Amino acid sequence: MARAREPERRDFLVFGSPLITEEDIQEVVDTLRSGWIGTGPRVARFEESFRRLIGCQYAIAVNSCTAALSLALEIGGVGPGDEVITTPMTFPATANVIVHHGARPVFADVDRATGNILPGEIEKRITPRTKAVIPVHLAGRPCQMDEIMALAEAYGLLVIEDAAHAIEACYRGHKVGNIGDFAAFSFYPTKSITTSEGGMLTTNRDEWAEKARLLRLHGISSDAWKRYSKAGYTHYETLLPGYKYNMSDLQAALGLHQLERLERNLRRREALWQMYDLGLEGLPGLVLPSGSESKEPGTVHARHLYTVMVEPAEAGFTRDDLMQRLKEVNIGTGVHYTALHLHKFYRETFGYQPDDFPNAKWISERTLSLPLTAKMTDADGEDVIAAIRWIFGPD
Ligand SMILES: *Cc1c(COP(=O)(O)O)cnc(C)c1O
Repeated sequence: MARAREPERRDFLVFGSPLITEEDIQEVVDTLRSGWIGTGPRVARFEESFRRLIGCQYAIAVNSCTAALSLALEIGGVGPGDEVITTPMTFPATANVIVHHGARPVFADVDRATGNILPGEIEKRITPRTKAVIPVHLAGRPCQMDEIMALAEAYGLLVIEDAAHAIEACYRGHKVGNIGDFAAFSFYPTKSITTSEGGMLTTNRDEWAEKARLLRLHGISSDAWKRYSKAGYTHYETLLPGYKYNMSDLQAALGLHQLERLERNLRRREALWQMYDLGLEGLPGLVLPSGSESKEPGTVHARHLYTVMVEPAEAGFTRDDLMQRLKEVNIGTGVHYTALHLHKFYRETFGYQPDDFPNAKWISERTLSLPLTAKMTDADGEDVIAAIRWIFGPD
């Protein structure tokens, strides 16, 4: 068992700091020199690599996961008067997009151990107005998709996977992102691959993919991005009032090689995960995350977040205390999340009460995400372990 030592880290360990290699940088520089920095050939290559990775029919690159979620709702026909069921244990974007489309976000409580939405809680909240469900594969751990897809089938609901944490995840032999009607991925800096800002929408339906391509760039006739290329100017026409959601070649350039390193980076995070499991066991009031789902055949946990829970009654201090003390010894952490029903806008607009989702509230008060990226060295991991053991009481 790792021993506690007085923390002595000099530089701040930034939470979620991405691994950017020389080849990523070179690809960006090459793009700048190529003279084509808008949406172009690199976006097309990035989409094709991503599509193959997920094994789906279509991957449409956009400028954020939020944009991808929004397109899915719009193409799915979600509008005023509709309800969309989702988890309160997510980033605000997941529910904000529902509000943008004039629909009502209906939260359903989660499993205390995984933080993932419970199919039974979804079913309790289905009404004739329910149009869609947005499950979030929290921390990279796949949701119970068999049960969720069965509900969707029975009640005629659209399923939009929020796969922002889960590029590498598999559920019972099926890639996450290729299970629901749509899936949305994020390439924000803290995510497992990054394009600085960026996202991807995946689907298997031709007409949905076509509409997504149209809507992501002003709704102007397809391939309009080529209008200043060698092919020369061509007239275009507005077919729909679209958005400005396209990804640029500069962003795609940053993502291209990271996609090739996806598995290697996952192996690295798995190794750090195991280090944490061994180094942090046995501390009173510190509950470690379950990794058991990866023992299920065909299921892969994407290991995006290593979330511990602090049980204040046993630890003698709160999660916020631990977060503060880690910051003082140069270790950055995160909270994923304070449940959305506890946020001002959602409380006041939809009348949610703190105890409406007891498990989500319980997790919100206890969860803390430790640094976990492929950029981290073993020494970084040891620093985190040593600092936590020190804070829990020098042994
Ligand atoms: C990061 C994140 C988003 C938003 O991603 P962007 O690319 O920043 O729009 C949505 N949902 C979840 C669960 C996220 O973690």
